[in-house]
Amino acid sequence: MSSIIPDVRVLENLLEQLRKESPEHGLVLDAFAPLLLQRENLLHEHALKRKPKAAAEYPLLPRREAPLCAKVSAQAALALLDAIVAGLPANSDAAKSIMAQLHKAPGAVRRLCKAFLSGDSTALETYAAKHQLSAELLKFLIVQTSQFMLARSVNALPEILEKHTSNLCPYCGSRPDLSIIHGSGGERRLLCSQCGRHWRYTRTACVFCGVDTPENLRQYYVEGNKEDRAVLCATCNHYILETDIRKRDIAIQASRPLGMVLGHLDALVQEEDAIPVSVEPEDAFFSPPAIARVQ
Ligand SMILES: [Zn+2]
Ligand SMILES: [Zn+2]
Repeated sequence: MSSIIPDVRVLENLLEQLRKESPEHGLVLDAFAPLLLQRENLLHEHALKRKPKAAAEYPLLPRREAPLCAKVSAQAALALLDAIVAGLPANSDAAKSIMAQLHKAPGAVRRLCKAFLSGDSTALETYAAKHQLSAELLKFLIVQTSQFMLARSVNALPEILEKHTSNLCPYCGSRPDLSIIHGSGGERRLLCSQCGRHWRYTRTACVFCGVDTPENLRQYYVEGNKEDRAVLCATCNHYILETDIRKRDIAIQASRPLGMVLGHLDALVQEEDAIPVSVEPEDAFFSPPAIARVQ
């Protein structure tokens, strides 16, 4: 499992390094680091045995079919809620009500995660209204819990070694939200926005529409830091954030924290009315809730 789930200390060190490198992102790091670390702790704690054989077709485990253990999802939701409050203490009153409700009815977590992973957004709103809970915080929590449960199952799938050219995650079928350039040849890996696994992808092709012609992709970066950029497709106007980790001593699976300090690049391309690759109409409910946008 160690090759798929990064060591929590490795993530802590990287977060510390990012704090020093870019103090301007300190607020975002403080807000979301506890959640990121809690998630990794839970993935270690609840790791499943690796399955020996892959299924015959992609995605190997469509997110709608992710198995959801009622006990683990309820436990994880409470632990993740603690971590959310640790980073975003302004939510502590709203969190207390949610916590009290989830202690009374722990089975609701599984139900709401199931609805979320099936693309049903009304179940959650109805539940929040019925029990007078903050719909925004509950949604954020259910998104986090669902992604954790999905990651837990997907982490048990064997690694796909060949070059997978689909722009959707071969493990769970979701869109990527971070592109990583690594290795001596500058290979590209895409990080899944939902399950966190990564796969190889053509360096010169658009991650959304697949167009692979010279000069179709344009890079937006801040002067002096070409390693971090937004890559925009001139054909479909979708973009993905990308970071070149060749100067850093980190493994691809431990590079998730790097996405936390790229928010200023979102702002740069959104002036061009560009659309992030991870958001599409059918996935609107999967996009990060407003509470996650601190920058
Ligand atoms: Zn995935
Ligand atoms: Zn495109």
